[in-house]
This record gives sequence, C-alpha cells and structure tokens, in this order.
Amino acid sequence: MKDAGKVQHQHISMAKRNNVWMALECARLSRDILGANGIADDYPIMRHLMNLESVKTYEGTHDIHTLIIGASVTGIDAF
Ligand SMILES: Cc1cc2nc3c(=O)[nH]c(=O)nc-3n(C[C@H](O)[C@H](O)[C@H](O)COP(=O)(O)OP(=O)(O)OC[C@H]3O[C@@H](n4cnc5c(N)ncnc54)[C@H](O)[C@@H]3O)c2cc1C
Repeated sequence: MKDAGKVQHQHISMAKRNNVWMALECARLSRDILGANGIADDYPIMRHLMNLESVKTYEGTHDIHTLIIGASVTGIDAF
C-alpha cells in the first residue's frame, strides 16, 4: 500500500497494534511454557518481554491505536 501511495495513518495503526500485541503474546506464552525457569534468568525470555513492553509504549500503545482505528471506522473521535 505504501509503494502504491495508498497508505493512510490508520493502516499503520492496524499494523503496529497487531504486531506488538502478537509479539507480546508470543513472549508471554514462551515465558509460561518455561514455567519457573521463565521467571529465573536461566533463559532470556523476560528480557524479550521487557523489551517488547517498551516497544508497546514507544510505538503508540494498543489503546491509542484502537482509538485511531475506531475514529477511522466510525467517524467519531473518542480521544
Ligand atoms: C524506550 C523508549 C523510546 C522512546 N523513543 C522516542 C523517540 O525516539 N521519539 C519520541 O518522540 N518519543 C519517544 N518515546 C516516547 C514515546 O513515544 C511516548 O512514551 C509515548 O508516546 C507515550 O507517551 P507518554 O509516555 O506521555 O504516555 P501517556 O500518553 O501519558 O500514556 C500513558 C498511558 O495512558 C494511555 N492513554 C493516553 N492517552 C489516552 C487516551 N486519550 N485514551 C485512553 N488511554 C490513553 C496510553 O495508552 C498509556 O497506556 C520513547 C519511549 C520509550 C519508552
């Protein structure tokens, strides 16, 4: 869409919102699979999880992207 010049800001919100959410879900599932080893520093999964929590904030947060998409779909600005 970007190459075709058709991308709009709400499309970016859809991509960022789902990307970060899915990455966090994968990291949380990985932590869960490892049980107590996922909490201890034997495996680096918590490092990935904390890294992704910072990505969630600096990429705009799930809630803000939801508001942006909602405004685009409904035409009603809920900010
Ligand atoms: C590691 C890191 C690197 C960064 N790098 C950069 C950078 O290079 N350039 C740059 O410009 N900024 C950068 N930032 C800043 C980042 O963009 C901001 O932290 C981000 O925009 C959130 O703003 P805030 O921290 O003021 O939180 P707030 O806006 O106060 O948000 C706090 C919480 O409230 C929620 N919230 C806010 N407003 C609403 C609303 N209207 N309705 C519902 N919920 C709401 C948010 O979803 C969030 O959960 C970086 C942040 C981090 C952590």
